[in-house]
Amino acid sequence: MTSKLGLKHVQAIAPYVGGRPISDVAREYGLDESKIVKLASNENPLGMPKSAQEAMLKASSDLGRYPDSNGFELKKVLSERLGVPTDWITLGNGSNDILELSARAVAQLGDDIIFSRHAFAVYPLASQAVGARAVEVAPTDIYGHDLSAMLDAIVASGDKAKLVFVANPNNPTGSYLTAKEIEDFLVAVPPHVVVVLDEAYNEYLTPEQRYDAIAWVKRFPNVILSRSFSKAYGLAGLRIGYGVAQPALTDLLNRIRQPFNVNSLAQAAAIAAFQDFEFLQQGYELNRAGFAQLTQAFDELGLTYLSSAGNFVLVKVGDDDDAGAQMNLSLLKRGIIVRPVGNYGLPQWLRISIGLPEENAIFINALREILSAAK
Ligand SMILES: *Cc1c(COP(=O)(O)O)cnc(C)c1O
Repeated sequence: MTSKLGLKHVQAIAPYVGGRPISDVAREYGLDESKIVKLASNENPLGMPKSAQEAMLKASSDLGRYPDSNGFELKKVLSERLGVPTDWITLGNGSNDILELSARAVAQLGDDIIFSRHAFAVYPLASQAVGARAVEVAPTDIYGHDLSAMLDAIVASGDKAKLVFVANPNNPTGSYLTAKEIEDFLVAVPPHVVVVLDEAYNEYLTPEQRYDAIAWVKRFPNVILSRSFSKAYGLAGLRIGYGVAQPALTDLLNRIRQPFNVNSLAQAAAIAAFQDFEFLQQGYELNRAGFAQLTQAFDELGLTYLSSAGNFVLVKVGDDDDAGAQMNLSLLKRGIIVRPVGNYGLPQWLRISIGLPEENAIFINALREILSAAK
């Protein structure tokens, strides 16, 4: 379906393919919605926190009014915890919004935006939408970001290089960069190139893996930190995230965002969720246990998987080029939704979001049956 209308670089965009909604799969395969297990979109298996639900109920009485365009209350809470002034914070309609605003603020037709192959699907989308060339850099042999190769690509792009996306942990590979690796990279990146450090899964890092990204924002005027309320905070359906950068960059993002890009319910829920330490801790522990449960099963089944620092695991389900698609179809027929990652250049793999113990068990049993039936 090509149209004569519109920009060439927009026509060239391959639309984002998300995890299939439960209702959609139920309709197609004639299944009972309540029996479907969705492990496809890295959502929090606990759902949304009760605290956020209550805050939303309260806020719902005022929905006849526009939201607070500047997100005063939420920025205040974020500012206090993060240790930056409120004019360093940009609220986004999901952190996706922050990624797009970053691209729109600094790059245009003819510029280069650099990121790793097998990184988040929104990077090419955000790059192509502004007409920039998406420069994909081959990953390391364990599917991590090859920061030194990314640096080479930036240097090769010269003045055209405007933006580089770094995901830590990365989706869909789950790969993780150490503080030293990131810091060395930030020191080496030319100051005219903006670095978006995408930390959508930051809250799932172990205490040993954690680092002080805010210190980098304070030190480097070209760094934008991107964080999400969709994953660990359980608010994916509300669409809210935030960016942290020095005031000059933050001001740019602010100029091009929609004036009311974050709705009132999302703001209220985020304030509550951000302070719900119990919920965060519960989700963290559930995630660690679920990772152990899934990977133990993969070990038993002799399947290769990648070590993940996020709330999902990438597992190789066969050697054929359609192995991921085939396994995905077999799982769908049994009411289990996972994420095929052929569009990420990984057609032999599936990405499994870590669910509740019983959801993981249903998936593991189905996987075992499908694999043994194929023998
Ligand atoms: C999920 C995800 C996001 C975006 O999530 P939002 O729902 O838009 O906040 C950003 N980056 C990565 C790497 C992700 O996996």
